[in-house]
Amino acid sequence: MARYDVVVIGAGLGGLTAAAILARAGRKVLVIERSNSVGGAASSYKSGDLFIEGSLQETSNPQDSRDPKHAVLTRAGVLDAVKWIPAGALYEVRGGPLEKPFVLPDNFAAARTALTKRFPAARAGIQQLLDEMESIASAAAAASSDEAPQSLSQKLDQLFGDNEAVKCALAANLSYFHDDPGSLWWSFFARAQGSYLLSGGRFVQGGSQRLSSALARAVRTAGGEVMVRRVASRIALDPQGRTSAITHTAKDGSDAQIAECTRIIGGAAPAALAPLMPEDAAAKLTRGHAGLTPSISLFALTLGLSKPPREYGVTAYSTQLLPDDMQRLADYGRGATLMADEPTERMPPMSIVDYAAIDSGVPAPPYVLSVFGPDWLSNWDSSDLDAYREKRGRWQQAMLRYLDKFYPGIASGVVASSFNTALSVRQYLNAPDGAVYGFAPTLPPLNGHAPVRSPRTAVSGLYLASAFAGFGGYTGVVQSGGACADMILGET
Ligand SMILES: Cc1cc2nc3c(=O)[nH]c(=O)nc-3n(C[C@H](O)[C@H](O)[C@H](O)COP(=O)(O)OP(=O)(O)OC[C@H]3O[C@@H](n4cnc5c(N)ncnc54)[C@H](O)[C@@H]3O)c2cc1C
Repeated sequence: MARYDVVVIGAGLGGLTAAAILARAGRKVLVIERSNSVGGAASSYKSGDLFIEGSLQETSNPQDSRDPKHAVLTRAGVLDAVKWIPAGALYEVRGGPLEKPFVLPDNFAAARTALTKRFPAARAGIQQLLDEMESIASAAAAASSDEAPQSLSQKLDQLFGDNEAVKCALAANLSYFHDDPGSLWWSFFARAQGSYLLSGGRFVQGGSQRLSSALARAVRTAGGEVMVRRVASRIALDPQGRTSAITHTAKDGSDAQIAECTRIIGGAAPAALAPLMPEDAAAKLTRGHAGLTPSISLFALTLGLSKPPREYGVTAYSTQLLPDDMQRLADYGRGATLMADEPTERMPPMSIVDYAAIDSGVPAPPYVLSVFGPDWLSNWDSSDLDAYREKRGRWQQAMLRYLDKFYPGIASGVVASSFNTALSVRQYLNAPDGAVYGFAPTLPPLNGHAPVRSPRTAVSGLYLASAFAGFGGYTGVVQSGGACADMILGET
């Protein structure tokens, strides 16, 4: 029976980050991943000729020492193992209550100038909001529990009243975090959106797989092991209730192996870990997250085009396309549930990424244009997979017709495509409800204890390093991996 100091279940960005830091600190580490390759959501792959980026639109710049990922990725040994390519302006927003497109630059100074020039009547509110956002994003501490927590809507209403255009200009990329500004925690939004404005948006040249593979290499170089196509199937506890071993099998359940270990890190969702444990431990783990609900999921329609997207009129690396019937930022979430029904003229908000607009290293042709947007597992019925695929196909056709109105000719330029939904995310990542950001970053309760967002769990010896240990997205997840490794190093 093999013995390890730490076994990590799931080679997502969080698990890999923790594993790399621990292995480099001399711990004997094993990472178990059930998929064919490492990375979880942070993966890229090819389907025929089409390059598919599994997740990354942009992350804040880890090469800036103020970015929360900077110190963690340095300690993991991968900061300079990949190229962080500037993504240009944070986004261009079109539609919704905006009469004409607006470009939000990727730094505070230029954002202040552009916003006040476009919305002069809201000048004072813009200054106050961006000042506050800058000071929250610059603070070293993680999102704290503020005295009187506000939602994003409360904050924006207070500063801008019913000026919905300026609100949409400031938060058009809502799906990077959540779908409902009414429940999204302002402090979290300020920190996350502010980190883009502090250091600029970046893409990993060649795709997010490069970052995940670099982390796996760092684990192996430091003497750790990374096994793919191995499914964690049981977590054993000793008589004191402390984790003692893990059983892992081949994907078909054969070839069971046991790894002894005193510490286990869950890179997978707690909901995927609980069924592996004895009932009482599972109940403890689940109780520890009471009050937290899974985040939104995202759909990702990847289009392979015969010509670069700019030739169809796509003018930015990142375009936030708001539906015409969305006249208020608060309407954003309505679009997230549309795919429960058959397609009509109404469309969800879309985040469109043109990988050919920057030095992305994404192979072409076909030229890759990705369309991301908020989605919920409840939109899709998995009981009849043929019916699911047919409905998804109808939505793809409807989205192409819609995009063709903004970018004439684009629909007939599609030579390859792939459409992942919340159901694909759930199946691929084993994440509850297809959540892509761990627990939803919602407002903590006004009275009473804020639910715990931490790598520590109520089960002795079990830690988390994933979006479920703090907040989601590349930044939150890398931070959780660093915090988890520190917790373990502090104890041993
Ligand atoms: C379409 C899409 C677009 C996104 N865009 C962005 C973006 O632009 N910027 C950004 O910052 N974030 C983005 N995100 C979010 C970000 O990718 C995720 O929050 C983050 O990568 C999650 O990392 P994680 O470590 O929590 O784990 P995950 O990526 O969820 O990985 C968990 C891993 O655990 C494995 N696993 C589960 N159960 C087991 C088991 N029993 N045994 C072994 N292995 C198991 C899974 O196979 C998976 O590999 C996006 C996500 C998606 C899906």
